[in-house]
Amino acid sequence: MASPDYDYLIKLLALGDSGVGKTSLLFNFTDGEFNAGFIATVGIDFREKRVTYTSRNGEKSKVHLQLWDTAGQERFRSLTTAFYRDAMGFLLVFDLASEQSFLNTRNWLSQLESHAYCATPDIVLCGNKADLDEKRQVSSERALQFAKEHGLPYFETSAATGENVEESIMHLLDLVMKRM
Ligand code: GDP
Ligand code: MG
Repeated sequence: MASPDYDYLIKLLALGDSGVGKTSLLFNFTDGEFNAGFIATVGIDFREKRVTYTSRNGEKSKVHLQLWDTAGQERFRSLTTAFYRDAMGFLLVFDLASEQSFLNTRNWLSQLESHAYCATPDIVLCGNKADLDEKRQVSSERALQFAKEHGLPYFETSAATGENVEESIMHLLDLVMKRM
């Protein structure tokens, strides 16, 4: 049997309310592009990317990233909860221009606590649409305070400009790899 041409297969899952930019963030990361149109994700979908991971001691490994994309409207349905169990890390996304999506991150966190592979999984919090400055409803201070309370790393991202997209996902990968 042929052995795979990567060292690690890492599955990350993006979650958060519908419309916050999960699909756009993953698309920006894998394809470096942005589409302004709304493409509703039906159920669950995944994108893939090969990256090189460099550990603390400088050792390089080939990582095959599987980025699972959930649909926000499926929030309390069992369809997506099965996928929580397989994911090794979570990108929890809200929209900086939607206070409601920020308030809902609490619900997403409790979903993770009950459905993820363990009660304290690796999670990175992303306040997305940072480019929509004049529409912002959630201040950096407030988001940071929330992130701190829950012990989450926090990034302000933009799928439109690419700001912090790679940084947030690679930070999550780093957390996951430290557990391996
Ligand atoms: P999802 O439901 O969480 O997957 O959200 P989508 O990726 O489908 O994005 C919802 C809408 O927000 C689309 O119209 C996107 O073009 C837009 N969008 C997503 N990310 C950004 C961003 O960072 N900045 C701006 N300005 N629009 C964004
Ligand atoms: Mg989507």
